[in-house]
Amino acid sequence: MAEGERVRRILHCDMDCYYAAVHVRDDSSLAGRPVVVGGDPGGRGVVATANYEARRYGIHSAMPAARAKRLCPEAVFLAPDFPRYRRESERIFAIYREVTPVVETVSLDEAYLDVTEHLGSSGRASEIAKEIRRRVRAERGLTVSVGVGPNCLVAKIASDACKPDGLKVVPPARVRSFLDPLPVRRLHGVGPATEHALAAMGVATVAQLRVVPLRDLLARFHSHGRTLHEYAHGNDERPVEPFHERKSLGTENTYRRDLSVLTAMDEQLDAMAREVATGLVRRDIAACTVTLKVRYPDFTTVTRSLTFRVPTADSGRIGSTARGLLRRTEAARRGVRLLGVSVSTLVPATMRQLELFGDG
Ligand SMILES: [Mg+2]
Repeated sequence: MAEGERVRRILHCDMDCYYAAVHVRDDSSLAGRPVVVGGDPGGRGVVATANYEARRYGIHSAMPAARAKRLCPEAVFLAPDFPRYRRESERIFAIYREVTPVVETVSLDEAYLDVTEHLGSSGRASEIAKEIRRRVRAERGLTVSVGVGPNCLVAKIASDACKPDGLKVVPPARVRSFLDPLPVRRLHGVGPATEHALAAMGVATVAQLRVVPLRDLLARFHSHGRTLHEYAHGNDERPVEPFHERKSLGTENTYRRDLSVLTAMDEQLDAMAREVATGLVRRDIAACTVTLKVRYPDFTTVTRSLTFRVPTADSGRIGSTARGLLRRTEAARRGVRLLGVSVSTLVPATMRQLELFGDG
């Protein structure tokens, strides 16, 4: 953290074995029993999540369901019900949003909250974390683990460290002692390949990574080396981005002289599509719906929309869709004084994978 910079207070809220917990809450016959949510254990599906009773048998997310069945034949196997998890998430996240508007949705069961400007009467992030945990339990009948730290990196590792049903606060002065003994794999963005490469350099823990000279990390990992260096020092400047508040993203232009030629309109739409796509990529989100807005010279305004089954953040796809929609208007015949391109039905760019492989 730079000298004189204000300390942020970030919460990472992570529901405990979320999908399984929702089923157990709603069906008292499941209480105390091993519960596995995922694919058919008789087929080739994988485990999305397992409750702690099932984890005791060695069952974990992304494991083949058939293997889970062999480890614990008496476990209850349930098919996922995403609309139900999504409805529940909306209610839980509504509690978060009463605390701060700065809520970033990571997946159906995981969110970052920036409470720096919303510390309430106590002035303490730890009190806010306690209140959130109390309310989620009382109002939703579920448990959420919360990590508190000066940035997303530390808050996330803290919530992992206190699961299940835990609270872990890491004050800025203790970030280094908290991170140092951990294996490098616990840092965001360190996957098996990076872990392996670091091991070859004799680096297994965060403390060991912290003392590797930056130039060595840059030589080995290029720009990612700088991120590793920052993370090993407990620094993470990523902002909490509440894109889920956002229902759409778009841009429009009013022309001083009406456009009358279709190719000129197409050029405008392509430029706007690039701008919109840049906005999506920057927020790490994707859109399912493209909407074109056209205002004719007589001020009559029409919109045309198309919704994809698979979300996109691609400027070419958004542009060609907008051009196609333009041909479903009378723009070519009447001319236009305004054009607009917007996207909606926004989802996290990673949502689909997260839904396949479950929560943690
Ligand atoms: Mg979770």
